[in-house]
Amino acid sequence: MNVVFLGPPGAGKGTQAETLSKQRGMEHISTGEVLRGAVDAGTPVGLRARKYMEKGALVPDEVVVDIVAERIGKNGRCKNFLLDGFPRNLNQAKALDKTLSGLKDRLDVVFYFAVSEETAVSRLTGRWICSGCGSNYHQHYMPPRKPGVCDKCGKALQQRPDDKVETVKERLKVYRKQTADLIDYYEKQGLLMKINADRDVKEVYEEVTKALDSLNRER
Ligand SMILES: [Zn+2]
Repeated sequence: MNVVFLGPPGAGKGTQAETLSKQRGMEHISTGEVLRGAVDAGTPVGLRARKYMEKGALVPDEVVVDIVAERIGKNGRCKNFLLDGFPRNLNQAKALDKTLSGLKDRLDVVFYFAVSEETAVSRLTGRWICSGCGSNYHQHYMPPRKPGVCDKCGKALQQRPDDKVETVKERLKVYRKQTADLIDYYEKQGLLMKINADRDVKEVYEEVTKALDSLNRER
């Protein structure tokens, strides 16, 4: 099974991807990790990516595509993979199709984790990080014993600038704009499966695995 996970920040797709890859033995390919891995390993394409990252610039599509393709096509074969955070736009999606058809393979399903703005904002703006030891907290899901103070080391908790309400709303807007034609592209190919990601982690996971099982039977 070759699967893509799409979804805005706050949809919880990273958590779902981690669980699914562990339970089903799928290779979890998270773009962020793959990028860092290639840069650390100093592969040719990793070195290309590093030039942009050192400048704090966005790594261009063609470099990201090459890095993901390198990972998918490792050992000259396609794997049972789960792509998380890729493709991010139509260009990358088309490049992915090309890579896969070169390996005589294809995508089986694209899950879109749909989340309301309200839920995403509540999930993302509630995150607090300790300024001392880096422990993570969440206002609703994992509150500290004393508000604003780390349970473990007693230092002050901070919110990341990325997690302020206005910034989160802006990130959601940008995401919707970037992915509208991507979603359309997969919908037309009959690959898109929408998941209501407003619900809790367990319910969402059950829906995903049920969908995968029914696809497996159809094959
Ligand atoms: Zn701490």
